[in-house]
Amino acid sequence: MKYIFVTGGVVSSLGKGLAAASLGTLLEMRGLRVVLQKLDPYLNVDPGTMNPFQHGEVYVLADGAETDLDLGHYERFTNCVLTRHNNLTSGQVYETVLAKERRGDYLGKTVQVIPHVTDEIKNRIREVGAHSQADIVITEIGGTTGDIEGLPFLEAIRQFALEVGTGNAIIMHVTLVPFIKAAGELKTKPSQQSIAKLREIGLQPQVLICRTEMPLDREVREKLSMFCNVPLDAVIEAADVEHTIYESPLNLHDEGLDSIVCRLLNLQTREPDLADWKRFVQRVVSPKKRVRIAVVGKYIELQDAYKSIYESLTHAGASHDCGIDMVLVDAEDIEQEGADKYLRGVAGVLVPGGFGDRGVEGKIKAARYSRESRTPFLGLCLGMQVATIEFARNVCGFENANSAEFDPETKHPVICLLEEQKDVTEKGASMRLGTWQTKIAEGSLARQVYGKGEASERHRHRYEFNMGYRAEMEKNGFVISGTSPDGTLVELIELKNHPWFLACQFHPEFQSKPNQPHPLFKGFISAALAHED
Ligand code: GLN
Repeated sequence: MKYIFVTGGVVSSLGKGLAAASLGTLLEMRGLRVVLQKLDPYLNVDPGTMNPFQHGEVYVLADGAETDLDLGHYERFTNCVLTRHNNLTSGQVYETVLAKERRGDYLGKTVQVIPHVTDEIKNRIREVGAHSQADIVITEIGGTTGDIEGLPFLEAIRQFALEVGTGNAIIMHVTLVPFIKAAGELKTKPSQQSIAKLREIGLQPQVLICRTEMPLDREVREKLSMFCNVPLDAVIEAADVEHTIYESPLNLHDEGLDSIVCRLLNLQTREPDLADWKRFVQRVVSPKKRVRIAVVGKYIELQDAYKSIYESLTHAGASHDCGIDMVLVDAEDIEQEGADKYLRGVAGVLVPGGFGDRGVEGKIKAARYSRESRTPFLGLCLGMQVATIEFARNVCGFENANSAEFDPETKHPVICLLEEQKDVTEKGASMRLGTWQTKIAEGSLARQVYGKGEASERHRHRYEFNMGYRAEMEKNGFVISGTSPDGTLVELIELKNHPWFLACQFHPEFQSKPNQPHPLFKGFISAALAHED
């Protein structure tokens, strides 16, 4: 088993996750099997309790783990199968260590960061490798070198690399090489200092990924190589991608990253086969047509809040040789000024998931606009719930119908708390999470879109469609086209008198890949194109 550790220096948001995932792509294309893992130094047990301002999207795995959005990159860029073991936080490490201490596992000893905390971290790195069929484990360490809370993780890596021996583990450091306009120069000092910081604790990276706005010339590369103590050809330029993040593996390959990594780890492989990936990138970069899709959310100013949704739209667009012009609409703007102003002229409306009542009335208006103007609509999780509320209010005449989440006193709780949630008091990891089966009704739009009678989809919710309203809603043209296998929970809804109006209680965006777009997104874009015609 070989190990690659990915650290980051100078500033955050350098795209460590993307670099790690891109390396995974390239190694897979060489015929190797990889598994990726993220270590997050914060004390939350998982990111499930953080809001998108803090953390961006919470990415849900098949087993129901609520994880960092970098795991989304890992799943989209590689074929590795991820579980809750693939995202370790300090919170989990301490939880385990403290439980062991109470059980008496360390009886007689003082429990310390070294060795007890670091042992726990090393166990989890080893475990991920052992549970996979992989040849290589790529472990990304969250945060930036110099962070106090990251130290136990870096120390664990130092020990780990020593234990597995030279040639079996390398460190790839992602750093920033800023361009200083006034001097007209790229500066290497921040990278030198962040490497010095690593050396202080006994770590020497073998590969340097240099994020830069300008090409690195020979002189800058030599300087980085010399001061950072890495071979010249392991100084890798990672310029900002021109059009799409999917260019990243191709750019890194052109810089020789995968061959250097294979050399350092003594791996003999074939050259990578980049053809499919290149074709995909080509379709994203220069598509034959374009379509305008509105995303109506409350975190649209944050790039990371709806990451998987944006990626899924891109994948689906590419499969139609179609670029997506995303029109990001703040639900609160629609709430105040009406849907028409913001949605007129778009070819499709997507309402993503969410929690809390801010912006909900705007999302309801967006659903109404789509229904009445016959614009294709895709609702995801909360998006399905608002479509239900809208239909109940404006078609069925249930005055002030609402979700019990937003109005616990509503006379018409068309969306209500899941039965299994009624006794839940703790907030962490307590929603209906992960993969559940959906049975898809014959003759429905959903059936046509999926081309099959069942689907496995990932969930993250506490509320559900209230079956008490089923008969009345169906009488008015509301269609329940997907349910749990026992028929008790609604998973998919659509509208009878509408060309394409589909919404789901689950999150299809967690299962879309570049060359395997999710059927719901693919169908949605196809309907949007037809709508435009
Ligand atoms: N807040 C809603 C619920 O808990 C929707 C959740 C979501 O969109 N992920 O059911």
